[in-house]
Amino acid sequence: MLTIKDLKANIDNKEILKGLNLEIKPGEVHAIMGPNGSGKSTLSNVLSGKKGYTVTGEVKYFNENLLELEIEERAHKGIFLAFQYPLEIPGVNTNIFLKTSLNAIKKAKGEKELDAIEFLKLVKQKAGELKFDEKILSRQLNVGFSGGEKKKNEILQMSILNPKLSILDETDSGLDIDALKIVSEGVNALRSKDSSFLIITHYQRLLDYIKPDFVHVLINGQIVKSGGSELAMELESKGYETLS
Ligand code: ADP
Ligand code: MG
Ligand code: MG
Repeated sequence: MLTIKDLKANIDNKEILKGLNLEIKPGEVHAIMGPNGSGKSTLSNVLSGKKGYTVTGEVKYFNENLLELEIEERAHKGIFLAFQYPLEIPGVNTNIFLKTSLNAIKKAKGEKELDAIEFLKLVKQKAGELKFDEKILSRQLNVGFSGGEKKKNEILQMSILNPKLSILDETDSGLDIDALKIVSEGVNALRSKDSSFLIITHYQRLLDYIKPDFVHVLINGQIVKSGGSELAMELESKGYETLS
């Protein structure tokens, strides 16, 4: 579903991604680990369509050239980026924001949009499945949320939008163990044969709870090593230095 070939990204004349290759198939969970400054966030930004980068190389998403799609089109086609620090947006009700996003996705797919009652039913169902209180969605987007609540909110958004590719960029940093479990249990519940995950993390900790199918090590803008979930353990004990 996602094929990345020789991806390079520059910002301010600085080369950050230096020829990155990666293939993600439907249903797979890939973890990208790497030291600070190796280009992990740049990769998630480039994939989700953030502006400001000069990008070369090839990124195929299903049969399309992902790099030609606008940020909204990527979201409509099933790419979801969970942020390291979710934005607080005062005045924006989470339910309304989410309903708008979901209906935009449905419209792009040619599916019938949900009315308020149908949407609420879906929210209740998904919140129930995740054992979250759906009241969290009637508050303003992330305003005054605890770290754990932001994560719950994000996971609930993910389950409602049902993305094909979810990118989690260091969503685990700064989380206490309870919030970490919310994220990992949520991701595990959303794993299916059609949904793929790219989990970016600096620490192995998250991968104790989410068992990835593949682990890649990103150093200095390139994937220098790939392996199974055992690679995460190896990195935890040996560090990145041995690989760079
Ligand atoms: P990581 O997420 O792995 O910590 P980033 O992708 O955030 O790494 O950053 C990779 C490198 O690119 C770092 O050296 C960082 O300072 C640099 N960088 C990131 N964004 C910018 C920017 N907007 N302008 C200049 N340099 C940047
Ligand atoms: Mg960083
Ligand atoms: Mg980062």
